[in-house]
This record gives sequence, C-alpha cells and structure tokens, in this order.
Amino acid sequence: MAASWVPTAASRVAGSPCDMRLLFVGAPGVGKGTQAKRLADGRSIPHISTGDILREAIRRSTPVGLKVGLFVDSGGLVPDEVMVSIIEERFAQEDTQKGYLLDGFPRTMPQAVALDGLLLRLRLPLERVILLEYPDGAIMERITGRRTCEKCGTPFHLEHRKPRAEGLCDGCGGKLVQREDDTEPKVWLRLAKYHAETVAIIPFYEKQGMVRRVDASRKPDEVTRAVEDAVAGL
Ligand code: AMP
Repeated sequence: MAASWVPTAASRVAGSPCDMRLLFVGAPGVGKGTQAKRLADGRSIPHISTGDILREAIRRSTPVGLKVGLFVDSGGLVPDEVMVSIIEERFAQEDTQKGYLLDGFPRTMPQAVALDGLLLRLRLPLERVILLEYPDGAIMERITGRRTCEKCGTPFHLEHRKPRAEGLCDGCGGKLVQREDDTEPKVWLRLAKYHAETVAIIPFYEKQGMVRRVDASRKPDEVTRAVEDAVAGL
C-alpha cells in the first residue's frame, strides 16, 4: 500500500527545483515522517527532520549526540537552545535556498519564535503549515507496531506496512528495529509533550493564515493526495 505511491506529474514538475517552504506538524506516530518524505522527494526539496538529525548524531556519538541521547531515548524533548542551534546549522547549508520541508521543528513556542527570526533574516519565510490530525487513542497501535530502518530511517509497520523481506528495509536492505522511544510508556510521554508544548504553536501560524488541516486517519496514499491538495498553488 504505502510502497505503491509514486510522485504525481504535478509533484515532479520535471524534477526542477521548486521554491516551497513548508512545515509539517502532528502528534508522534501520525505518519508525518512518511508524508513529509514523499512530498519533499517529489518536489526535490530538502526534508529537514530534527528527529532524524538527532538519531544520526546519537548513532555517530557526536558531541551533540552525546548531549541529547537521554532526552530522545526517554521520549522527552531536547532543550530549545540545542535544537535552535541544530536548525541554524542546517539552514547554513545552501540547499535550503531552493525550499525546504521542516518536520519535527519547531515543537515549542520558543522554538517557533526563534525559527521566525532565523527565516526572516534568511529571507526564507514559511509559506504553509500542514497539520496532520489523528485521534490520540488510535496512535498507540500505530506507533508501537512501527519498525524503522536503522540505516535510512524509513518506517514500516508490523501489520499495515510490512516490508517485502521480513525485518529488512525495502529501500536499502537495512535492519528494521523498534525505536527506543516507540514503546508504550514513552509514547504516552511523547503524546503528553505534544499536547503540553507543541499544540501551542498552531494558533501562532493560524493567525498568519498558513495552516491547512489534513485528516491523517486515512490510508497513506489518500493522505498523500490530501497533502498534495493542501500545498497546491505554492
Ligand atoms: P521524531 O522523530 O520527530 O518523533 O523525534 C524523536 C525525538 O527527537 C523526540 O521525541 C524528541 O526527543 C527529539 N526531538 C526532535 N525534534 C525536536 C524538537 N524540535 N525539540 C525537542 N526535541 C526534539
């Protein structure tokens, strides 16, 4: 099912760089990463996932990785100042000039304010915020059944998105593992953090008329179509 998706003609635009500046927001396990990756790949813009950046830093035991490991593994949030400096460093890279898709940052109001200032300085303001909605009660089953490629980060699911070969990534052949923070008690903590901290950023973007809501409880390909509709015209 999810693997059947291919970029639409509209999303490919002959592979040309396209200046689209987006933010994806949603609770953990809502399918944000999958949808963000599809759209970013289809539009040839960098997919900036702070979760992926942190996990890679932890895997490589960089100074940042050593600093953030405990926060990530416990399901808590990494301190704002660490996150802001990671995002500043990422935006120093040239590829963000042609557009970007932010996934997982900002997650708190101070991060949203810092991002606003950074993007203003860089003259790369956000154009649209895609809010993926899914009932909390159903998230637990989705997320505890998730298995993630330890090499490329592609998510699979024990029931809903099985890999072709058991335990191995369809894309790169990497081993599929359960993320340290995808276990039930940690998911409850992550959901609590989402409601306590992240939901507060939505009105900030709503006031600027940027938010489009997408029902993420449908099949992945249907959600992809709804996301494409939500960014149409950019
Ligand atoms: P994700 O892959 O987006 O679910 O992120 C995994 C984990 O990385 C989160 O549960 C947090 O511990 C950490 N993380 C990612 N992005 C942020 C952020 N913007 N602020 C604080 N912590 C973050």
